[in-house]
Amino acid sequence: MSKIGFIGLGHMGEPMVQNLLSHGHDVMVFDLREEAISACVEKGALAASSLQDIAGFADVIFTMVQTGEQVQGLCLGEAGLFENVEPNTLFIDCSSIDVTTCRQLHEAAGAKGLRYLDAPVSGGVAGAQAASLTIMVGGDDDVFASAKPLFEQLGKNIIHAGAAGNGQAAKICNNMLLGISMIGVCEAFNLGKQLGLEPKKFFDISSQASGQCWSMTSYCPEPGMVEAAPSNRDYQPGFTALMMLKDLGLSQDAAAAVDAATPLGKDAKALYQQLSEAGMGDKDFSVMIEFLKDK
Ligand code: NAD
Repeated sequence: MSKIGFIGLGHMGEPMVQNLLSHGHDVMVFDLREEAISACVEKGALAASSLQDIAGFADVIFTMVQTGEQVQGLCLGEAGLFENVEPNTLFIDCSSIDVTTCRQLHEAAGAKGLRYLDAPVSGGVAGAQAASLTIMVGGDDDVFASAKPLFEQLGKNIIHAGAAGNGQAAKICNNMLLGISMIGVCEAFNLGKQLGLEPKKFFDISSQASGQCWSMTSYCPEPGMVEAAPSNRDYQPGFTALMMLKDLGLSQDAAAAVDAATPLGKDAKALYQQLSEAGMGDKDFSVMIEFLKDK
């Protein structure tokens, strides 16, 4: 059993902590939100009151926050984790962040004799709860091998994507595809309805036909099609539209850095930007179907 520190107890982090607890690990948790810490403590976690508590306790430290800047803030600097943990501590960053920051963190960790993996995830809150996440990992072979048993307690598809940063590269490409496919599914349902097609009929047909994709069959933006989808709960997240906008921004920054053509990724970012400016950014990203109706 490991002594695990877990930082970032949001939509994804909290259920991941619960899964680690259920496998018998000692888990110490930290978040800026007191109520998030209390919720995990009720399930058996230990509360940290500062990063120093985590640094003094854990031999494995997960981070599951929103942005690269937040991960840097936690890891770097005098009061940061890298400066204060035991040598050889294993860091696993599951946040979705930019490749450049991620590779800088790998390097800074290596310089301190620490082990570091980028391990962003896919599968949403339902995947985190069911321990069925896809986890895409970047980092050294031996470090990946040592962390694999932990990943298997959090996810079903554990893939070593390659060297430092390649987990994030895979995640950025995947989420660009997800943003594009979600918009496509929303457009198709809206058009079908305007043509007089019953949404359920369209779902029954398209979910078995060549238009089938995850955005339709697992996360359908049209209410009443997929029980677990946020569309059945007034688009409560889930995965917020603002977070999708962040990931589409990462994809466009990455595309610009390597001069890759991603015109649909660019359009998807523009649409999520407009949706957020219309005040819908805190809703689940599948709320695009409502935004397009009003457009
Ligand atoms: P969230 O906003 O629900 O949770 C983030 C948590 O981190 C919050 O509780 C926040 O208080 C905490 N936090 C931020 N800065 C902190 C700091 N300095 N110290 C301590 N705590 C801090 O976000 P989420 O939906 O759980 O997503 C987390 C990451 O996972 C993001 O990078 C996101 O893109 C990615 N992701 C999310 C989903 C999803 O469906 N929600 C799916 C896959 C990947």
